[in-house]
Amino acid sequence: MPAKNMDEIVALCKRRGFIFQSSEIYGGLQGTYDFGPLGVELKNNLKNAWWEAMVYENDNIEGLDSSILTNPLVLKYSGHEDTFSDPMVDCKSCNLRFRADQVPEHCKDEDLTEPRQFNLMFKTNVGPIEDGSNYAYLRPETAQQIFTNFKNVLDSTSKPIPFGIAQVGKAFRNEITPRNFIFRVREFEQMELEYFVMPGEDEDAHTLWVQKRVEWWDKQGVPTKSLELYDVPTEELAHYSKKTVDLMYKFPHGLEELEGIANRTDFDLGSHSKKQDELNITSKVNVNKHSNSKMAVQNESGDWVVPYVIEPSAGVERGFLAIINEAYTDEELEDGKSRIVLKLKPHLSPVKAAVIPLKKNNEDIVNTAKNIKDDLQKIGLGRIILENTGNIGKSYRKHDEIGTPLCITVDFDTLDDNSVTIRDRDTMSQKRIQISDLANYLIELVKK
Ligand code: ATP
Repeated sequence: MPAKNMDEIVALCKRRGFIFQSSEIYGGLQGTYDFGPLGVELKNNLKNAWWEAMVYENDNIEGLDSSILTNPLVLKYSGHEDTFSDPMVDCKSCNLRFRADQVPEHCKDEDLTEPRQFNLMFKTNVGPIEDGSNYAYLRPETAQQIFTNFKNVLDSTSKPIPFGIAQVGKAFRNEITPRNFIFRVREFEQMELEYFVMPGEDEDAHTLWVQKRVEWWDKQGVPTKSLELYDVPTEELAHYSKKTVDLMYKFPHGLEELEGIANRTDFDLGSHSKKQDELNITSKVNVNKHSNSKMAVQNESGDWVVPYVIEPSAGVERGFLAIINEAYTDEELEDGKSRIVLKLKPHLSPVKAAVIPLKKNNEDIVNTAKNIKDDLQKIGLGRIILENTGNIGKSYRKHDEIGTPLCITVDFDTLDDNSVTIRDRDTMSQKRIQISDLANYLIELVKK
């Protein structure tokens, strides 16, 4: 059962150290957030789950980590300099600026200016001379540097088509109205795959990737029944797209895009290529006068072919929000009390297990607990913590709220028989097991 509203999620994220407003002590910076001790763990776990599903589970997908600062020519030929903009209007009554499709109800039509285009890219000066001629962009998507590295990756890995390049990293967009917590921000992370196929194989590959991405979200705790597939109508398609399916999720503020899966045709490689007239490009590309590379492969007959690209592109922050929203549970208990529990999939939990000494000042109990923590930490499943507050009830409540799947309590009996009490987050059931069985128990739990 998802959270009732965004406020509950925002409050939990702040209270427990998942997400803070960026530059908070100076009044913040709109559209930016900082991920706290638990947020960074959950975010890394989510990115790792994506990386594993893409790069490790597919021998024909390779990884990349390209620069954020981008040569303006990349974004000229990609079309971003000309078209990456949103329509903006001013309200003469409240003196605020809005994206034309996001004007609040209280602004009257007669108070609004005509929409004008506003480019969403951040430009920055490069080097010590600020005369406006030495600039770069902060990348507005991770995709473009995947395209510019297409030949490098292909030549260094000798992969036949179809093959893919995956990248996770920051992207920046000067959104006119950032809002809804981390849903729409100016600095965010994307998890993008560019999957290169031969023309003619693109439609099947697109259908397959939509299906795979829905299945992956299900494994992260965003069930298929919570997603709606939106087949973007032709008039709304981006200039490069032949078909796009958006995975729409009911966020606390409404149904919105979590991930887009686009068939980008041969537009990108074609646009970044030299000698375009030799390449049988099917899409309407920008004429390229600067590239020194032919972004094409030779088919069996020796003809040059520009591969088509299928792109599943997901936002890390939007994934984070959907996952927390799905996991958030306000549960009535039998004794009339209630608890908040984050029913995260264990592989995503920021803390995998908490080891709790029953008495915080008993040296034998605390040392045994420390040893258990150290041993479990070495397995490499993620963070294990020693929770030495001396208050078991409070520790359980905390770990329910942050989604720790397992609490392990060390007590006086442990010193005699090497057994500990384990408590399951979701069922709250407790049982005793031997310390020597803990590692396997936790591995099984986190693997699920
Ligand atoms: P929207 O229509 O919501 O502005 P978009 O269609 O421009 O999104 P894409 O360009 O397809 O988004 O980017 C791919 C993914 O990157 C999106 O599905 C989303 O998860 C994420 N994303 C895009 N813009 C933002 C943003 N401003 N803040 C957080 N995540 C974003």
